[in-house]
Amino acid sequence: MKGYAMLKIGESGWIEKERPKCGPMDAICRPLAVAICTSDVHTLWEGAIGDRHNMILGHECCAEVVEVGELVKDFKPGDRVLVPAITPDWNSLEAQAGYSMHSGGMLAGWKFSNFKDGVFSEFFHVNDADGNLALLPKNINVVDACMLSDMVPTGFHGVELADVQFGDTVLVIGIGPVGLMSVAGTNMRGASRIIAVGTRPVCVEAAKKYGATDFVSYKNGPIFQQVLDMTDGKGVDKVVIAGGGVETFAEAVKCLKPGGKIGNVNYLGSGDNIDIPRVEWGVGMGHKQINGGLMPGGRLRMEKLGALVSAGKLDVSPLSTHVFDGWDHLEEALFLMRDKPKDLIKPVVKLAD
Ligand code: NAD
Ligand code: ZN
Repeated sequence: MKGYAMLKIGESGWIEKERPKCGPMDAICRPLAVAICTSDVHTLWEGAIGDRHNMILGHECCAEVVEVGELVKDFKPGDRVLVPAITPDWNSLEAQAGYSMHSGGMLAGWKFSNFKDGVFSEFFHVNDADGNLALLPKNINVVDACMLSDMVPTGFHGVELADVQFGDTVLVIGIGPVGLMSVAGTNMRGASRIIAVGTRPVCVEAAKKYGATDFVSYKNGPIFQQVLDMTDGKGVDKVVIAGGGVETFAEAVKCLKPGGKIGNVNYLGSGDNIDIPRVEWGVGMGHKQINGGLMPGGRLRMEKLGALVSAGKLDVSPLSTHVFDGWDHLEEALFLMRDKPKDLIKPVVKLAD
């Protein structure tokens, strides 16, 4: 089979590989559409997870099942499915402890294009098919379905980690596709005021649709100063971090009211330490929590998030700004994500209807 792979850090291309084997609890799937992620860019060009040789890239797609193992109960060849970016081992101790995304070790629920071949391929392998796949609702198109692999679950997880409550004032730092889904999730959770940090017009427009009420540009000086000015010096109840670097944490702590919570889903690709400002952290006694997490995968979550889109409560279509037809355009879509033109949110490659 053909797959688009990272050959080494900074180099990629199409390669031939053997079709993956299906274990008793597994499925082999064929993508119907794939989306490119910022993490593919971190992996390939920045070497963020270390060097990988001939590893097929990609972890965002929807698919058709072509083969299942003999112990798989709920899926069969021909089923159209949502595929989460994170595919935990559900019988692991970490999953039993409530942290399935770390099954087998820290972040080890992230398998596609990390520990094994990803989804930019004619066929790909899914472990624990009953635990990880979900049927694709009939009224969700294949492009929108790709947003359910990673963008929706990650953006929403940031909202869970920040523990957004009715009436909260919430700051969302970074409004790329993940941050936009954090804005949408924050709005659904009943926040009163949503202050979004970002500048690109296409993202600002989308953030307004998803419920952002105020905007701050990190290019206009420290975020915390602008946020304190906008809130009469009080600050915000919660912060979701979905962009920026290690320096955003100090800003976020300074923006928070006592008792506030930070939910981080941003991938910190560089820097050794995160600075927590002593005084603004209440000299150690401010009850300001910092939670950071990898998105949870799993069938239940996929079914629930799919149901939100299917029921018309969440419109993910504004995210897919660039849609291509056919594998021939995959490389172009990937390079587009690296180069991030101003009008881009997500590139998607459609392979079937
Ligand atoms: P993105 O690069 O499209 O969006 C990030 C946005 O943050 C950009 O628009 C950028 O301009 C903005 N930004 C940069 N510096 C900033 C600053 N100082 N303050 C505020 N905004 C700033 O990426 P994305 O696809 O939206 O993903 C966001 C992050 O989430 C990435 O780091 C990605 O790797 C990570 N991620 C995490 C998980 C997870 O499970 N936790 C899953 C997927 C992606
Ligand atoms: Zn992704």
